[in-house]
Amino acid sequence: MNSEKLSLRLVAVASFVEEGAILADIGSDHAYLPCYLVKAGKITKAIAGEVVKGPYESAVKNVRKKGLTDEITVRMGNGLEAVHDSDRVDTVTIAGMGGPLIASILSDGNEKLHNVKRIIAQPNIHASSIREWAVQNEWKIVDEHILKEDNKIYEIIVLEKGHAEYDELEMLVGPFLLKQKSDVFIEKWKRESDEWKRVLTFLENAESTNEINEKKELLRKKIELVGGILTR
Ligand code: SAM
Repeated sequence: MNSEKLSLRLVAVASFVEEGAILADIGSDHAYLPCYLVKAGKITKAIAGEVVKGPYESAVKNVRKKGLTDEITVRMGNGLEAVHDSDRVDTVTIAGMGGPLIASILSDGNEKLHNVKRIIAQPNIHASSIREWAVQNEWKIVDEHILKEDNKIYEIIVLEKGHAEYDELEMLVGPFLLKQKSDVFIEKWKRESDEWKRVLTFLENAESTNEINEKKELLRKKIELVGGILTR
């Protein structure tokens, strides 16, 4: 992959970055996303943050190779530590990690988010962790997207500051995605529901302990919750 030919997943993340944004891309392996956005003329300034040496060095090399060192600063740092107040970052992207890790990066770096107007998160799994973080920290969901690439399904959640409340189903599957009910969305929750049913059958044949009974109850609840959207 190179910054001209980005994955469909990262192109979709890029589409939610507003024209002229000052971007911090956290976990920016190769800095593919900032390079793509600068080359496309959509932004002129970005920070690429990485905590691991290998991906950090790949980002430095790629930015140099593309001749974008004036526009993109690559910094080694844990999460939002890579962002300085003087950067005046207004948009944060965090893509390609699990939802709980993205939520913990946002929590740990909360004081760096004062001037940030938009967060674009692309969790590979457990997107609900990001919705929970948003509600608890006075951010609201302004858009969502779901896509399939190489048989994997990805969700994108766009947050802006504000108060919002969501019911249990919306927290699990996403309020915007629930309204759109795209074919990929239905496929995702059919896949998840089939997996929950498989685990439930396995647990029903296991010895009955408090812990197993709690797990079975949780699975039954999720299967029922999602069941309603699969019969459309
Ligand atoms: N964002 C790119 C994408 O979506 O293709 C790269 C995704 S890659 C799977 C996740 C990257 O996040 C890795 O390069 C990893 O080193 C980095 N990472 C994980 N935890 C991080 C943290 N706390 N702070 C900064 N980078 C982190």
